[in-house]
Amino acid sequence: MRGLMQDVPLTIDTIFRHAEQHHGDVPIVTNGPGGKTRSTYAEWADRTRRLGGVLDTLGISADGRVGTFGWNSQRHLELYFAAPCTGRVLHTLNVRLFPEQLTYIANHAEDEVVFVDRTVLPLLWPLIDTMKTVQQVVVMDDGGDAEVPDDPRVLDYETLLAGAQPVDFAVRDENAAASMCYTSGTTGNPKGVVYSHRSTVLHTMAVISPNGFGIGVDDVAMPVVPMFHANAWGIAQASPAAGAAMVFPGAMMQPQALADLIVDEEVTFTAGVPTIWQGVLPHLAGREHRLRKIGCGGSAVPPALSRAYQQQVGLPIYQAWGMTETHPVASGSTLARRYADADEETKTAQRARQGIPLFGLEARIVEAGTIDERPWDDVATGELQVRGPWCAKDYYNPDAGVELSTPDGWMRTGDVAALDAFGSIRIADRTKDLIKSGGEWISSVDLENAIMSHPAVAEAAVIAVPHPKWAERPLACVVLKSGETATEQEILDHIAPQVAKWWLPDAVEFIDEVPKTSVGKFSKKDLRTRFAEYPAKD
Ligand code: ADP
Repeated sequence: MRGLMQDVPLTIDTIFRHAEQHHGDVPIVTNGPGGKTRSTYAEWADRTRRLGGVLDTLGISADGRVGTFGWNSQRHLELYFAAPCTGRVLHTLNVRLFPEQLTYIANHAEDEVVFVDRTVLPLLWPLIDTMKTVQQVVVMDDGGDAEVPDDPRVLDYETLLAGAQPVDFAVRDENAAASMCYTSGTTGNPKGVVYSHRSTVLHTMAVISPNGFGIGVDDVAMPVVPMFHANAWGIAQASPAAGAAMVFPGAMMQPQALADLIVDEEVTFTAGVPTIWQGVLPHLAGREHRLRKIGCGGSAVPPALSRAYQQQVGLPIYQAWGMTETHPVASGSTLARRYADADEETKTAQRARQGIPLFGLEARIVEAGTIDERPWDDVATGELQVRGPWCAKDYYNPDAGVELSTPDGWMRTGDVAALDAFGSIRIADRTKDLIKSGGEWISSVDLENAIMSHPAVAEAAVIAVPHPKWAERPLACVVLKSGETATEQEILDHIAPQVAKWWLPDAVEFIDEVPKTSVGKFSKKDLRTRFAEYPAKD
């Protein structure tokens, strides 16, 4: 017997029409060097339909790749919908990548056009001749003052929009590609992940749900996580789908500007990587605000950071885990009813976890290199694998040298995790960041969390350095808060009660700054190179 329900495809134009028809009066604010621009979903919808017309007149092929190179803005949101809703594929290029990576990605995806914010035009334009398939560059004037080249390939966004006809959106195949994003390459070469309409709609529903970010009509949502990376964690689709107002920081990503935007625009929900919230904290502490949830992920959220937000901003940080390959939101650390009456220490420990998979996804841990499941006892660790309709099954460049799927259809994450009895994830480390000392594993994340709970420490990254006897030993790279002091011994004494004796780092290096990747994560690759010749301790 078959179900007798309508088989309506899950396509992104349904999100678009919902916002257009039911939330036209809801505001959208974009910040920029020249001040804020105010608009509504009604204006956005009209402009997005006309942008669809622009893609037609530019001659972009039926499933052509539409590159974007810009900050979080209303215009970027227009592209987020106009490209997939006309059957094209949105390809967000990360403005912080190295030139060679940008060239590789644009050529590999075969971008036909790139829409670029004027503030970052100087980063893109010098590469344009290396991007073989790019025919046009459309400049979005976001208040930057970069010179716009006098070149027939360069067009102006607003001029094109003013002269364009609105188009109808009707995507029929829910499995058609909607957008693509290359992983930022903390490991190896960038790898292309291709999202479908269906995966996007299902991910959007999960992000909206209360166990996800819980976005609704009463929210003012501000994605700080970039729209050029990992789909802005789904907030760019979730907000129009939920009728939430949107606030975009534009190029104004400085901590003070972000804190002011949260306060002045009465933002209720925002999300970004831990380094962002670390920076924003002193500018937000003690101020009146309407925030009800701060989403944080991309790397482990230090308990000390969550505690500091609880104490100084009045709400803890909600930790989410995911990867470009999972759209990216896969799990969240919502405190279940079972911890409602728990003491603060237990709650802090729970918030430090990456939480349970959002409904729709499943997780398991397996013995490395096998599909043998490990127990859910919070002690055994193994490679974390996930399965569900918004997990990638393959890369766009299968030659990337990574087998993403297991023979039984789960996605390999490259993360090492433990699961507790309820299946709540605790990421121990990324496989390549684990420190293998004398045949036993040491978690760099656990050591970093312990070090970052020292009051004088601003940031800490622990890496493996070669050792003749133990193969590898941990080295702690520590950044002190400005004006604070601490010695190596003080740091080691502080963490000694929290970790096994043989986990204690061999040395503490005080550095000015932890190098960051293009999306603001600690770049341990750079630290490993810098300390490759570190003298071994007996
Ligand atoms: P990359 O860092 O390789 O560019 P992504 O941006 O897709 O790729 O990051 C995915 C990785 O980030 C995950 O595999 C995991 O190692 C790490 N990560 C994401 N969220 C968390 C979290 N909440 N806690 C710990 N690690 C996280």
